[in-house]
Parts: sequence; structure tokens; C-alpha cells
Amino acid sequence: MRFRARKLKLHTKILIGLLLGIAVGLVFGEKATVIEPVGKIFLRLITLIVVPLVFVSLMLGTASVGDIKKVGRMGAKTLAYFMVTTVIAITVGLVVANLSKPGLGLNKETQEQLYKSYESKAQVGVERLKEKPSTVQFLIDIVPANPIQSLAEGNMLQVIFLALLFGTVLTMIKKEKSESLLRFLDAVNDAIIEVVHIAMKLAPYGVLALIAGVVGQFGLHILVTLLKYSLAVIGGLLIYTFSVNSLAVNFLGKMKPQRFYRGIKSPMIFAFSTSSSSATLPVSMDALDHMGIERKFSSFVLPLGSTINMDGTALYQGVSAVFIAQIYGLPLSLGDQLTIVLMATLASVGAAGVPAAGIVMLVMVLKQIGIPLEGLALILGVERILDMCRTTTNAVGNLAASVVIREWEKDK
Ligand code: ASP
Repeated sequence: MRFRARKLKLHTKILIGLLLGIAVGLVFGEKATVIEPVGKIFLRLITLIVVPLVFVSLMLGTASVGDIKKVGRMGAKTLAYFMVTTVIAITVGLVVANLSKPGLGLNKETQEQLYKSYESKAQVGVERLKEKPSTVQFLIDIVPANPIQSLAEGNMLQVIFLALLFGTVLTMIKKEKSESLLRFLDAVNDAIIEVVHIAMKLAPYGVLALIAGVVGQFGLHILVTLLKYSLAVIGGLLIYTFSVNSLAVNFLGKMKPQRFYRGIKSPMIFAFSTSSSSATLPVSMDALDHMGIERKFSSFVLPLGSTINMDGTALYQGVSAVFIAQIYGLPLSLGDQLTIVLMATLASVGAAGVPAAGIVMLVMVLKQIGIPLEGLALILGVERILDMCRTTTNAVGNLAASVVIREWEKDK
């Protein structure tokens, strides 16, 4: 028996943890939250690595691309790929929501009940909006005034800016000088990844505790009320994730989709259970290592993507905006829908890779087209489960992007 248990693969163990967690949550209800600290400690163990990992690996990735022209070219291709896939994702979301009309025919009583129970939470979202900077300020804020502060606060866009800047600069100074620094950074990177390996051994237990807490607290019944909406989001995510990414991996990345999905099981399960692209980053990196994707590519595409490329979040915002508009009986013109595409693209870029970032940024989208923010109250109840699903899509999108960019750049 002991022998058998050892032979179980990590992702199988994580999956068992996930299922056990759901069972524990269902059986013990609210009481299941007592084991949540185990999950939280595990999550911290992983998140503590994120800032150093993004900073070091992206700097290394940028510097190892070679010269500044190559950095520019690979960067431009990566960004172009990110943008195109994000726009496709929102479009899928809009089409699904317009066809399935999840917001029509809602029971008035349920609506009012949900309103009441979630009013305070929605208010939080509204309050946070007031602090949201304008687009110009958003751009200014990407450039850090104090690099140490950016790292300490974990301001990911600023950290990325710093990493790209220093990585590029490293290709411009004398080779004798940059080489020793790069070797040092490479060792730091290996050490960071080693911490990930240790943390991953704890993943099955952490996932169990996290899921038990979520299911215990919210129960599955709330899902029933918002089933249509949830199904629209989940359906859209499934369609998008498995069609677009399979096509991209197959035709652009020249890799068999079966091989791709087999290789990324751990990051997928991980993204699903943590609802955090940032926390999933180390696991994705590890999965690509095992698939033979060189660090040169994964260290560049993944850290960048986990912060600015969120296909699932964008799709979710598209469906949610249409859903809320439908509930209030507001027809959306083509112009409105195009505005959703633009705003959701920006919002998904701006959303941090942490749980619930997407719903906060959704406020920005709703406001732009004048959809009542109170509608947020309705979808907050199923937020967590949808966050889990869209984060999985986000992770898969970044993994697929790495495979594609590697194919495009490997001979250059
Ligand atoms: N939780 C998502 C992520 O980390 C962001 C979101 O809330 O949509 O990828």
C-alpha cells in the first residue's frame, strides 16, 4: 500500500485533494472553514515566491534573448499574440451571452434576496472604483518612482516594467560584466524554483483545505440560482479554452494538443484551486520545463502573461456585462458591445493575477457603458467558482502562448 501511495503522480494527488475538499465542504458546511489556515499557509508559501520569481525570471528571460532587437521582436510578437487571443476570448463571451440570454426571465424574489445579502459586498466594489485612476494615470503608474516600493508592494505591472528595463539594459552593457550578473541571477532563479518544488509537495493538502472552505461557506445551492449565468460563463470558457488553444498549439506551436494538455494538468488544477494566475506561475514554469520548453521562452512569456494576458477574465467580463444588462432589460448596441471588447481588454490587462481581481475590474467595464453597478450584487454569489474557472483559462492561455512563441522564435 505504501509503495502504491508513493507512486501516485502529484497531479493525481492534487485532484484527490480537490475532490476530498469538496466532500469535506459539503459534509461539514461552515465548520469546514476550520481547516482553511492549512490552505492559507500553503498559498502564502507559493505567493511569497511570486515577486522574486517574476522579477528575476523575466529579467533573465529578457536578457537571455540576446540583443535588444530580439527582445523587441519577441516582445512585440508576444504582445500581439496576447491581444489577439484576448479579443477572441471576449468575442466568444459576447456571442455566448447574446445567444443563451442568461439574464432574461429571472425570478424577482430571488433577485431581491440576492440584492439584500450582497448589497454590502457590491458596495465594496463600487467604493474601490472611486479609487480607480484614469487611463493616463494608469499608464503613468506603470513606471515606478521607487523600485523597492514596487517590489515590496508587489505592484506587478511596475515589477514587470523594472524586469524588462533591467533585462534589456543587461544586453547593452559589456559582456564580461553582464555575464557574471546573469550567472548569479540564474542561480537565484534555480533556488526560487526549488522552493516551488518543496511547496508543491504540500499542494494536495493545501488544495483540500482551500476547497473545503469555499464549498463549506457558500454551499452548492447558490449555484443553482445562478446556474444559467454560470453555465454561460463556463460554457464560453470551455469552448474558448479547448478550441482556440488547441488550434494555436497545433498549428502555430507545432505540438500535438494531447501532449500539451497532458503536460499542463498540474498548472490547470492548480489555477482552478487557487484562483490566482500569480500563484500558478511557478507551477506553469515547472510544467513547461518538463515538456522541454526552454526557459528562454517560458521565463519571458509566462511572467508577462500571468499579469497582462487573461483570456478567461476577459471572456468572463464580456458575459457578465451582457448578463447584467439583460437583467435590467437594457439593450446593448453594437457600439456598446465593441466598447465592452475594448474595456474588457484593458481591464484584463490591469487585473492582477489574484483571486477576485477580475470582478473589481469589471466595475470599470460596466461604468463605461452605463450598466448599473448594483448588478454586481447578483453575480458576487457565484464569483468564486467562476474565478476558479476563468483562472484556469488564463493559465492555459499563457502556457499555449509559450509553446507558440517558442516555435516562432526558436530558430532566430
Ligand atoms: N483570479 C484571476 C487570475 O488570477 C483574475 C481574475 O479575478 O479574473 O487569473
